[in-house]
Amino acid sequence: MNSLDSNRFEVCYRPGISLEELLKVVEDYHVLVFRGRLKIGKEVVDRGVNLKVLARYGIGLDNVDVEYAVKRGIAVVNAPKASAVSVAELTLALMLVVFRRLYDVIHEVKGGGWPKGKYIGRELYGKRLGVVGFGKIGSRVAHYANAFGMKILVYDIRDVSQEVAELGGKQVEFEELMSEADVISLHVPLTPLTWRMINDRSLSMMRDGGVLVNTSRGEVIDTHALLKHIDRLGGAALDVLEQEPPKDEHLWRLIKHPKIVVTPHIGAETEEALDRIAEELARNIVEAVIWA
Ligand code: NAD
Repeated sequence: MNSLDSNRFEVCYRPGISLEELLKVVEDYHVLVFRGRLKIGKEVVDRGVNLKVLARYGIGLDNVDVEYAVKRGIAVVNAPKASAVSVAELTLALMLVVFRRLYDVIHEVKGGGWPKGKYIGRELYGKRLGVVGFGKIGSRVAHYANAFGMKILVYDIRDVSQEVAELGGKQVEFEELMSEADVISLHVPLTPLTWRMINDRSLSMMRDGGVLVNTSRGEVIDTHALLKHIDRLGGAALDVLEQEPPKDEHLWRLIKHPKIVVTPHIGAETEEALDRIAEELARNIVEAVIWA
């Protein structure tokens, strides 16, 4: 293709393409739509001499060298709003799985058992929820948790104290959140500041029996440190890992740990969110092509 027409796209679908293959063919395309599997770095941008738009199907742009692409005149778009409801709902579900030990209970019943009286859970009601990152997903989680009767603490680099106060909650410093919350839920983007912000030091601040939930990005947690602290904690639920799919042995130790529940990055995997992502992304691509 040499010219771009926002009313007519020729679409080529290559879901399992390797980076090597992509590098060979990327010069044929004006728009590249991708998820989080491949790193869209300088090499892809340099070889993509006809690229006008890089489009991430989803939210996180941490696998894209945005600065470099933009410098080369390539627009970078994503679908930042579409999956907030689904991720927030999964976050509450994961909290309930840990608090009511649902994984163990269901697993045992499916195995032919009837463990009534064996797994005594805890309520979310009245517990303090620490929300790290009060953006589209974090604020929604806070609203849902508020409806469960949880008390809300928020840490964010922006001043969101007014919105948090409307929920009867409080914006606090990171250290206060880590040491006061019964449940800590992570909703920050992956940046140099949030990379391993949950580490040995911050995990040491957590209360005994505290629960950690991560539906943001795996790299926000130092998983070696989490393994070190988990016995003292109430549990952890992770929808994201620093390596997906996991290969490292220590990640498998984490996944198999009886106090840890891992889901394979399914936060946005609902019929509704996938439809919304496709629609939002298509609109953003067309808009970017019109301006290209
Ligand atoms: P958002 O941009 O709307 O909100 C992020 C919030 O984090 C903002 O309020 C921002 O001020 C705050 N923040 C940024 N840096 C911070 C720091 N250093 N310390 C404290 N706060 C900081 O993002 P969102 O749409 O709510 O997404 C949140 C996370 O969820 C992202 O990591 C995203 O990649 C992830 N996500 C995961 C899934 C999934 O399938 N599990 C799906 C979509 C998004």
